[in-house]
Amino acid sequence: MRVSQILNPTLREVPAEAEVVSHQLLVRAGLIRKSAAGIYTYLPLGLRVLRKIEQIVREEMDAKGGQEVLLPIIQPAELWRESGRWDLYGQELMRLNDRHNREFCLGPTHEEIITDLVRGEIRSYKQLPLLLYQIQNKYRDERRPRFGLMRGREFIMKDLYSFDRDEAGLAESYKKMYDAYTRIFTRCGLSFRPVEADAGAIGGTGGTHEFMVLAESGEAAVVYCPDCDYAANVEKAECKPAPAAVDAPAEAYRSVDTPGTKTIEQVAEFLGVAKSELVKSLLYQGDDKLFLILVRGDREINEIKVNNALGPFINLQLAGPEAVLEKLGCEPGYVGPIGAPKDLTVVADLEVPLMAKAVCGANAEDKHYVDAVPAQDFRIDQVLDLRMVEAGEPCPKCGSPLQEARGIEVGQVFKLGTKYSKALNAVFLDENGAEHPCVMGCYGIGVSRTMAAAIEQNNDKDGIIWPIPIAPYHVIVVPVNMKDDQVRETGEALYQELLKLGVEAVLDDRDERPGVKFKDADLVGYPLRVTVGSKTLANGEVELRDRKTGEVQLVKVEELAGRIQGMIREALGVK
Ligand code: ATP
Ligand code: MG
Repeated sequence: MRVSQILNPTLREVPAEAEVVSHQLLVRAGLIRKSAAGIYTYLPLGLRVLRKIEQIVREEMDAKGGQEVLLPIIQPAELWRESGRWDLYGQELMRLNDRHNREFCLGPTHEEIITDLVRGEIRSYKQLPLLLYQIQNKYRDERRPRFGLMRGREFIMKDLYSFDRDEAGLAESYKKMYDAYTRIFTRCGLSFRPVEADAGAIGGTGGTHEFMVLAESGEAAVVYCPDCDYAANVEKAECKPAPAAVDAPAEAYRSVDTPGTKTIEQVAEFLGVAKSELVKSLLYQGDDKLFLILVRGDREINEIKVNNALGPFINLQLAGPEAVLEKLGCEPGYVGPIGAPKDLTVVADLEVPLMAKAVCGANAEDKHYVDAVPAQDFRIDQVLDLRMVEAGEPCPKCGSPLQEARGIEVGQVFKLGTKYSKALNAVFLDENGAEHPCVMGCYGIGVSRTMAAAIEQNNDKDGIIWPIPIAPYHVIVVPVNMKDDQVRETGEALYQELLKLGVEAVLDDRDERPGVKFKDADLVGYPLRVTVGSKTLANGEVELRDRKTGEVQLVKVEELAGRIQGMIREALGVK
C-alpha cells in the first residue's frame, strides 16, 4: 500500500478521554475510531492487526483439532431461561425484542447456543471429543466500558467449547487448550503468565486459568511464587492465616469511648494499637440476605471469595448507612460482632478466631470494645477464607514469599463440567447404550483486547512498537524527498522488490517533510523503517532502522530487500 492511499488518520494530540496508553495510541495511530461508549470501528491498519491475531489463534485452534463454526450473535431468550442465566446474567446482557415481542439477547458468550447445537447433532460416544470454536463479536453491557479496546461493550472473542465423554477427556481437552494458548501468546510476541483464577459467573466446578499479559496498567492483580510454579489472580489466591501476634488480654472486654473515629486508621491511632489488633466488621447485602463479615483490621475483604462462599448472589454489595442503622443501630464505623442481632449471619475470615485479643465496634455511636477474645467473645457462624492475599505472604504451595504483578486478562480456559449439558440435556450414548451428559469446557480469547494488551506492553513516547508477528505491515519505505527523482525512484523500486519477496511493505509516497513521515511511522509502529535519502544514496546505500531498538544500519540498496526478508522470516519462525 501507498501511505497516500491508506485511510490512516494519525493525530498529534492525545484524545482527552483516553486514560490508558493503548487507547491513546490506537486512536492517535489511526487504527480505531469510537462509535459509542465501548463500541469501535477498526480502520484498515487496525483491522490488519486484528486479522493477524485471529489467524494465529485460528491456526493453533485447528492444530489441536478445533473445528471452526459461526454461531448467531442474536440468541433466543428461551435457551437462556433453560440454562437459568436469563435472570442471573443481569444488566450486562443486552436484551432486545423482535416485532412479535419475542425476547432475544446479543450473545455475551455462547454456551447455550453451542450446547443446543450439540444436543441436536450428537448421539454417540464415537462422535466425541468434539472441539468447536468461532471468532466473533460479543456483546456485554459493561458497567464501565473504558480503556478503548480493553473493555468494550462490543468486542471480538475466540470461543472454543469442548465436549467430552468424561472428566479424563475434559482434562485432555483442557490441556490442549492450555498449550494452544501458551503457543498463541508466545507467537504474538507477548510476555504473559497463566494464573489460577476464579470461576466467576460462568459457574462450573472444575479448574480455570487466566492468561495474563503482564503490564503495569493491567486491571488484574496477580501473585506468583518466585520459587515454584504457583501463580494466581488475587481474586482467587488462597490465604494462609497468620497466627496471633500479641498476647491474650488480662481483663475481660469492655466498652471504651472512641469519639469521631470511624475508620480503622482513626481507631488504631486513637487507641494506640496496630491495625492488625482491630477487627474490621462490614455489613454485606447479598440479594435479600445480610451478612456481617469480619476480617483483621489490616486486611482487605475479598468480595469474590465472599460471594463464592456464601452466594452466589446477583448483587453482593456493602450495605449502605441506612441499612446499617436499621440493623445495628449505629453508623458503619462502629459496627461489631458482639451483641449483633441473632438473625444476622456472622462470617469470619480464618484469621479472626486466631487473634489473641481484638478491638471491635460496639454497635453504638462513638464506642468500641477493647480486649475482646474473638474465639470466645464473638458469635461466629462460619469461618472461611474471605480476604485478599498480599505480596510477601507465604506461597500456599511452597511457603516462599509471594510476589505481585499486574496483568491484562487476554484469555481464560475453563472446565465447565456438566452444568450446561445437564441443564440443556446434551447427552450421548456410551458403548452399552447408557446415556450420559457431555462433559464440557469453554476457552475464550479476547482477540481485540489482545491487540490493546500488545500495545500496553510494547510502546514508547513516540508510539506503538508492534511485535513483528502482529504488526499491520512489517516495513515502511520512506523516501525523504519525493521531488528528488533518484530518491523517489529508488524508494519505489525497493518497495516493489519487497512486495515481490512477500514482505508486507508500505511506501510513504506523501509529499510531506521527513519529520512528519518519521513521526507517523513511529506512531503507527512499523517494526522496520527504510529511509531513502540522497546523502546515503551517493554511496549506494539506504538506512534501515529498527523501531524497537532504534538501531540504524546502512545497507546496500541491492542487499536491502533480501536482508529484510530474512529478518521477517526469522521473526515469524518461517524456514
Ligand atoms: P473480565 O473479567 O475482564 O470482565 P471475563 O472474565 O468476564 O473478563 P471471559 O468471559 O473470560 O471474560 O471472556 C474471555 C475473554 O474475553 C477474556 O479473557 C477477555 O480477554 C475478553 N473480554 C471479556 N470481556 C471483554 C470486554 N468487555 N472487552 C474486551 N474483551 C473482553
Ligand atoms: Mg475471564
